[in-house]
Amino acid sequence: MLHIDVMDGHFVPNLTLGPAVAAALHRVTRLELDVHLMLSEPLRYVEDFVRAGASCITFHLEADSPVPDTLKAIHALGCRAGLVLKPATPAQAAFPYLAQCETVMVMTVEPGFGGQAFKEEMLPKIAALREEAERQGLAPDIEVDGGIDCHTAPKAAAAGANVLVAGTALFGRPDYAQAVRELRAAGFTQKSFE
Ligand code: ZN
Repeated sequence: MLHIDVMDGHFVPNLTLGPAVAAALHRVTRLELDVHLMLSEPLRYVEDFVRAGASCITFHLEADSPVPDTLKAIHALGCRAGLVLKPATPAQAAFPYLAQCETVMVMTVEPGFGGQAFKEEMLPKIAALREEAERQGLAPDIEVDGGIDCHTAPKAAAAGANVLVAGTALFGRPDYAQAVRELRAAGFTQKSFE
């Protein structure tokens, strides 16, 4: 998947890109677009991003849009949906919504800027989400965003994550495909992972 960080200069101080750029990316790749909305009002923009070609839209539990309505709106547009938790937000805050989420994403850095160090203290949160999902008979993707590299990928995977987002660890390398293969090998050695 191609993970797209959308920032509005309000929910986070940084400003990135909007639906027009997502649509342009969609035209030139067969990769699924995994759109991470760091917006104060994600509900206002979900339709634009689905039209732009998003396969999955995640938004922050801490944003101003009502969580159930936003999940419902994304699903009604035929798109996968999920919640994102900032480092300070406990796993328990997501528990009531797990049954409505195809994915739950744990931020292992403060959202807004690349290049930050992975917060190891988020590992129990990943484990708590996986445990609660299993207790509810659910198997959502558990995605980890922030500071993922060959050292942190195995820790996140061991805690229960099955989707890892990498930025700095890939974009600093001359061969992205090789860098992705190395991350997969580091993170998912116990599973056969295609
Ligand atoms: Zn992200």
